[in-house]
Amino acid sequence: MSTTGFGDIDWSGTALLLIDIQEDFISGSLAVPTAEEIFPPLISLLESTSSHDAPPLTFLTQDYHPADHVSFASSHAGAKPFTTIEVPHPSLADKTMEQVLWPDHCVQSTSGADIDARILGALEGRGNVVQKGTQKNVDCYSGFASNDYVSFTDLARRLFSSQPAPGMAPVHTVVVAGLATGYCVRATAIDACKYHLRTIVLTDCIRGTDAASTEQAMRDMEQFGAEFAETTTLASTLSRR
Ligand SMILES: [Zn+2]
Repeated sequence: MSTTGFGDIDWSGTALLLIDIQEDFISGSLAVPTAEEIFPPLISLLESTSSHDAPPLTFLTQDYHPADHVSFASSHAGAKPFTTIEVPHPSLADKTMEQVLWPDHCVQSTSGADIDARILGALEGRGNVVQKGTQKNVDCYSGFASNDYVSFTDLARRLFSSQPAPGMAPVHTVVVAGLATGYCVRATAIDACKYHLRTIVLTDCIRGTDAASTEQAMRDMEQFGAEFAETTTLASTLSRR
C-alpha cells in the first residue's frame, strides 16, 4: 500500500474536528502525558490543507470554564481531583449526575485555556472555535453538547448547514483529532456517529490521560461505528466511501 501524500486527500464534504488542543491539556494543570506526540503528524496534515484547493471546514473545540466550575475539585469542599462525585442535575430537580473532578483547568481568560499557537499557525486563520463548558453547573466533554444534553453548541448546526462555508458542500464526514482520548475526543466522536456522520478518528493525533480510559474509549468509539486511521492512511481511508 502506498502512503499517499496529504495532497491526495479529497476533503470534499469532510470537516476536521480538533478537540481541546489547549495549553492546560498539553503542559498545564491537566496535561496529557504524551500530548506533544500529536503535533508532528497533525501539524504536517494541517499545513498540507493550507495549500489545498478545497481545504476542510475546520472546528477547534475550546474547553472554557468559569473559575468556579462544577468539574473543579476546588469547587467542592474537601473533594480531591480525579475522584467522582454526584452533583445536582442542572435541569432536573431532585436528580443528580455523576461528575469526575479535575484540577482547575481551561479557566476563561487564562493562558491555560488558549488553543495551541502551533495549531493556529498551521491553520492560517481557517479554524472556527467552538467554546464548551462555559456554564458553571454542567460539564461538557462533547463538542456538540453539555454532558446532560440540554445545551448544545452550534457545531451540529454549522456542520449540517446546506452551505457550511461559501462554496462548500454539506458535510458528511468528520475527522477527529485532539485531547483527551478518554473524555472529550470520545464524547465528540460518539456524538458525531449518533448524528450519522461518517467519523474517522486519527489515532496518531489523539492521546489520553491514562491507559484505562483510553482503551475503553477506543472500544466505545468503535462500537458506535467510528473508523480509525493515521494521518498517512487518511487519504486511502477517505477514498473508501
Ligand atoms: Zn473541562
